[in-house]
Amino acid sequence: MCGIVGYVGPQDAVPILLAGLGRLEYRGYDSAGLAVCTRSGLKVQRASGRVADLASGLPARFKGSPGIGHTRWATHGEPTVENAHPQTDTAGRIAVVHNGIIENADELRAKLAADGVEFTSQTDTETVAHLIAAAFAGGASDLEQAVRLALRQVVGAYGLAIVDAEHPDRIVVARNGSPVLLGVGEKEMFVASDVAALIGYTRQVVYLDDGELATITATGYRTFTLDDRATAKSPSTIDWDVAGAEIGDNAHFLIKEINEQPRTIKRTLSGRLDERFDTAHLGGLNLTVREAREIKRVKILGCGSACYAGDLGAQLIEDLARVPATAEAASEFRYRNPVVEPDTLYVAVSQSGETIDTLAAVQELQRKGGRVIGIINVVGSTIARQVDGGIYLHAGPEMSVAATKSFTSTVTAFALLALHLGRMRDLAPSEGRRIIAGLKALPEQIEEILLQSDAIAGVAKEIAPSPSVLFVGRRRGWPVAREGAQKLKEISYVHAEAYPSAELKHGPLALVSPELPTVAIVPDDDLLDKNTSTLSEIKARKGPVIALAHRQLPPELADRTLVIPANEPELDPILLSIPLQLLAYHTAVALGRDVDKPRNLAKSVTVE
Ligand code: GLU
Repeated sequence: MCGIVGYVGPQDAVPILLAGLGRLEYRGYDSAGLAVCTRSGLKVQRASGRVADLASGLPARFKGSPGIGHTRWATHGEPTVENAHPQTDTAGRIAVVHNGIIENADELRAKLAADGVEFTSQTDTETVAHLIAAAFAGGASDLEQAVRLALRQVVGAYGLAIVDAEHPDRIVVARNGSPVLLGVGEKEMFVASDVAALIGYTRQVVYLDDGELATITATGYRTFTLDDRATAKSPSTIDWDVAGAEIGDNAHFLIKEINEQPRTIKRTLSGRLDERFDTAHLGGLNLTVREAREIKRVKILGCGSACYAGDLGAQLIEDLARVPATAEAASEFRYRNPVVEPDTLYVAVSQSGETIDTLAAVQELQRKGGRVIGIINVVGSTIARQVDGGIYLHAGPEMSVAATKSFTSTVTAFALLALHLGRMRDLAPSEGRRIIAGLKALPEQIEEILLQSDAIAGVAKEIAPSPSVLFVGRRRGWPVAREGAQKLKEISYVHAEAYPSAELKHGPLALVSPELPTVAIVPDDDLLDKNTSTLSEIKARKGPVIALAHRQLPPELADRTLVIPANEPELDPILLSIPLQLLAYHTAVALGRDVDKPRNLAKSVTVE
């Protein structure tokens, strides 16, 4: 969940490593450190706390190359300076940074201790440094071989980067279950656990697969396996720019990303609307027309907001393509020995493309012969490479932990998929045109909603003191309500619960009182009457109501109405989610929360 960066080349590695670690801060971490090779051997500096603390504590002469850096999310031992990475061997020759967990660390420690090794940290990672030193002592001739010999004894998940003072021209990296990628520069090379660290340095990246290692030098790289079989890898190009990963004059990444949505939705749509045939053009699906027509069912898998976006995706697919579709939490699916059908299309949704639960679900599906496509933001990420085809969001880097622009772009991608599948079936051209016109109208309508930010901040101040907030919606409004509740709880820590409106009287109506505000999704569709009677039920029990509607509601139904522009009913959820993002944001700000890095959460959940 934390970060690795590395640099080898003619420049001093230190500023590059610090900048890279800075870009990885958004992922959450508790301590940080660097190691560089110098003429007089390895230099290591570590700090508990922020990357800024590490930078301010660096001696002026702390320079060198190659170098490796790390932000740690402690799993073995407290976040102290001693436990921060890089971890070294006893002689201070080998330095290791590690993301992940070494499962047989206790056993390895006992074995190394029996051989006389004295440990200086409680980490599982330190064992790797000692194992590499032992491999050299046992006759390994170079760093590659020593790392291979060491890793053969290691069980667990790792992304690793290693430098050796005796081979100061290279970094050896290894991946098993935790992302590692190489950045290719001009006579210099980089490594990172996340492309965000490389933005501004290179756009050419090589993603390692599980079980793969690489040696990088200033002039190139070689990839190979634990038993030293060479693997062939060519670089892919990332389309992110520096501005996307920088906060600029925004108070938080989250508000920057909310405000970017008119542009990110445009990018998701770009080049994909086919107005000649009133359909969507999705080149990356890798499905022939015949295969697409044979699909009998669609099953969508994702975690958290990706799953709620999937709920909306399922409704879009059923509405437009008339193919039965459901969404499920990937984290549940993978554990229940799922029945995998050959004529079902499986869709894995993950912003980062690294979500471990979703990846495990994809692997289980593929093992059983399922056809899986991905809806993913990060190009070349693990899930993107694992699936049989898919749709990239092109939403740019999402730095804030809470999903916003990736959520609306995911739903937009589902609308494109539904249109594509629908127009191969029974969706009339005029209906295709209606959806295309709706999709094209979204960016401008989002601009209109964003203008209401101050008014929504006023509502946020009112709900901030509440111990809990109820979110209700029907049909397409129900996933909107779920995502709204999720946003509020994750960044403001205000308890929130979402219910389908019709379920209120089956239980949660008992909670309604003047102390429990309800946020109700009330679009102007064929269910308007049903929705307004839900509001009456709440108001009759003196529950305060904040409604999201297409027109002003009378005070006997809602204390506050946020009037949202209407699109086509199938696409309205995209617009209705945006005021809820703003509501969560302003509530979190009103409560003084750490908006971009909410407690206990990480951006991409790469551990189980
Ligand atoms: N398991 C290692 C430790 O606790 C690495 C944790 C991480 O991924 O940062 O030091």
